[in-house]
Amino acid sequence: MSDIMYPVSFGKLMNHIMTEYKMYNRIYNVNKIHRINHEQRLPMFGKSIENPVGPAAGPNTQLAQNIVASYVAGARCIELKTVQIMYGEELGIPRPCIYSVDEAYNVEWSSEYSCDEAADEYIKAWFALKLISKELGLGDPDGFLFIMSVGYNLAGIKSPMVDKFINTMRSASQSPMWDTCKQWCLDHVDEFEHIDVDYINSISDELCQAITLSTMHGCPAEEIESICSYLISEKGLHLYLKCNPTLLGPKRIRELLDNAGFEYIDFEDHQFEVDLQFDKAVPMLERLIALGEKHNKIFGVKLTNTFPVQIHNNELPGEQMYMSGKSLLPVTIGVAELLSAQFGERLPMSYSGGAVKQNIKAIFDCGIWPVTVCTILLQGEGYNTFKGLADEVESTDYNAALKVHKDLIAKLAKDISENKIFKKSDAMKKKREAMPSFPGTRSSDYHCRVTCGSCVRVCPNRCNEVVTVNDAKLIVHVDQSCNECGNCACHCVEPCQPYKDRITFFHNAEALADSTNDGFYITGTSCGYRFKGEEAVCDIDALPEELKGVVHAFCKEHVYYVS
Ligand code: SF4
Ligand code: SF4
Repeated sequence: MSDIMYPVSFGKLMNHIMTEYKMYNRIYNVNKIHRINHEQRLPMFGKSIENPVGPAAGPNTQLAQNIVASYVAGARCIELKTVQIMYGEELGIPRPCIYSVDEAYNVEWSSEYSCDEAADEYIKAWFALKLISKELGLGDPDGFLFIMSVGYNLAGIKSPMVDKFINTMRSASQSPMWDTCKQWCLDHVDEFEHIDVDYINSISDELCQAITLSTMHGCPAEEIESICSYLISEKGLHLYLKCNPTLLGPKRIRELLDNAGFEYIDFEDHQFEVDLQFDKAVPMLERLIALGEKHNKIFGVKLTNTFPVQIHNNELPGEQMYMSGKSLLPVTIGVAELLSAQFGERLPMSYSGGAVKQNIKAIFDCGIWPVTVCTILLQGEGYNTFKGLADEVESTDYNAALKVHKDLIAKLAKDISENKIFKKSDAMKKKREAMPSFPGTRSSDYHCRVTCGSCVRVCPNRCNEVVTVNDAKLIVHVDQSCNECGNCACHCVEPCQPYKDRITFFHNAEALADSTNDGFYITGTSCGYRFKGEEAVCDIDALPEELKGVVHAFCKEHVYYVS
């Protein structure tokens, strides 16, 4: 266990994807594979998109494999995790950083990778999607979209490292990772049935035409406008400005939360004084709409950012955390209602805030898209959730959603305020009373009483695998991409933290040494391990009997980690 994520090479990524698909007809444990079977397309930034659904900038778009898992399950609008001048330890992200039992909270923010490393992840994902969309017949290789996201102030965005990131996303062939991925494709072209050299050479290096701008809570209106103007006029980007829920004011947010059963959520009024206020936002948005028109670029808003609330029950470390999911839904729709009443169809809107299968079609029908999600990917079926979302939106008439409909938004806001499926349920209230804090219980037994598989499904980084030993299933945790977000522990039915308490596969000896977990790494036929107080390096066949069974099963069932 270590909170540092080690990048997976493009070759290993592709080997994992293609081998797991051949062995199990699944990719990164996504078994609800979505294939496009309709002709509808959405025009966006000069492209034709197969659907308007995707992961929001966040834990589900930090790594290449997360983006692959999203696409395979049905996502077609991928909002890449935000980058800024700070990264790694500088960010000071405490662990755990995600608590997503019902509505979700987090204490993380931008990518833990540097701008260069983040760009590498996005380029690997781009190539992987270009290959598997065609090879596996998942959809049109040009039918998906990447939207970059940057933060958080003008000086940072103009800094050489963020500027280079933006330029790389516009023209990725200037990056060494582009050459690495392309060369791998050319070297392995014979392994594909539907990919040839011409196709590889035709892959566009323009990853992004658009950007989502994230600003800090408290960022002055003048600064926000300056950044937007810079990105539209000087960088030539379409832009969605991420708005804060605080536009609604504290009284309205309190009413909406109380009505939805979230009376216990506490927030400070101070943030409403420092955040952008509606009366200042209106003329600024008017000017930015005009600027977008002048430069022939789309200017719109992304609704909404997460909402800062107080930590009272040790849900996560610290004093304040960012709320998302079910409790954000009425708030985000409230902001959409407010802005659409003011601007009508002149202000394009994209969405993130508690969209689920039961409301995503209605949100899309309002003309609000792309619709991105995060919380529901951290719960239940994980990335497989995209399949249901994609099926829902693809069953509607895309033409009706081409402009914002303020009357439909007002109706949706009313429906959401009245429909009990969008409110805190009695069962979840009881669960919260029973477990108000982040679960701290540990297990000294690496077996599960029932291997429910929840930790496999909800991990954003795909770091848990099921293996079968002597007819019994157990979990092997994969250290390489785990950042100790803690999400799997929120959903474990045992008193256990899967990322700490399950036997762990490490990608090398240093990673094992950096961790306190029991586990193993493999080099050829030998294996280094820590198990029940013993540490050694030996032949796999000379391992302690109990561990040997796990290692053999892991190497056989998940060969892509060791080949
Ligand atoms: S294994 Fe658990 S702690 Fe690690 S990244 Fe996945 S969900 Fe987070
Ligand atoms: S570790 Fe927990 S979440 Fe994972 S399979 Fe076992 S019981 Fe389920």
